[in-house]
Amino acid sequence: MNEIDFSNPPRRKFPLSIIDAHVHLTDSKSADLLVEIAQLYGMKRMIAVSSPEETSPLRQRHGDFLHFALWPDYSQLNNAAALREKNVPVMERQRANGAVAMKFWFKPEFNYKQGLYLDDERLRPIFEGMAELKLAALVHIADPDIWFQRCYSDKRKFLSKRDNYRQLTGALAAYPGINFVAAHFGGNPEELPHLAELLARFSNLYLDTSATKWVARELSAKRDEARQFIVEHAERIIFGTDLVTYHGGDQAYFASRYYVQQKLWEGSEDFISPIDDADAARPVTVRGMDLPEEVLRKIYYDNAMKVYRLT
Ligand SMILES: [Zn+2]
Repeated sequence: MNEIDFSNPPRRKFPLSIIDAHVHLTDSKSADLLVEIAQLYGMKRMIAVSSPEETSPLRQRHGDFLHFALWPDYSQLNNAAALREKNVPVMERQRANGAVAMKFWFKPEFNYKQGLYLDDERLRPIFEGMAELKLAALVHIADPDIWFQRCYSDKRKFLSKRDNYRQLTGALAAYPGINFVAAHFGGNPEELPHLAELLARFSNLYLDTSATKWVARELSAKRDEARQFIVEHAERIIFGTDLVTYHGGDQAYFASRYYVQQKLWEGSEDFISPIDDADAARPVTVRGMDLPEEVLRKIYYDNAMKVYRLT
């Protein structure tokens, strides 16, 4: 990290409300610090991935600043009635406590180890409950291209990166009434034409901007193409950071993600990213996109309100 004073955020280009629609909060001191820094950077709300036991204490302290995406309970996968019983009543109770989504962390290693893919028919009771309760699905599919070379080179176990998307397209087709938000630019900021094709095929698909380091690196490398993609798909992109409080966390870690995304979406200059990036061969130059106000308003606020049905 270099010498940026994160306690003093840069001026916003426009006075817009912002929702961070993807963080991970545990009920902890770090969660309080993250909320404080998010508010310093202009966040008006957050959608936090949390477990059902954590939502009440978090809401007691932070009120309806927080909404939640819950982890499903997969323990009864082979018994549809029991799986429904494990999940749907919890979803129903938590809906009243601010739950707006379920989180599916379907990375290649999860798929392989659990033998479970997003379009698995065994998940139907969960998705049907979500459709009834109007909960969205926040999903993680695939991982950076470079990880497929380094960690997932065994295609029999982990499939090719492209084949990881069959589970997403299967679920999008099976549950047209559910809004799916594919995190981290759909897991494929490397290949925007692929994302454009998916967005054109499935009107229930949205992307979030979370995983700042990865997204800023890939989009900056093709700044003009990325800017055009974002302007064209402004209705389908949702701001988020994916900041996590599991391992504690400090001001520099929390604030750096807000800082970099602010400068990436609003700024007009290039700068060296203050985030260390083990996946990059050299320090990453972030290239400001200078997005127009109506695009920022959708990405920062309107789309999250609509897709997660916030009130
Ligand atoms: Zn996440």
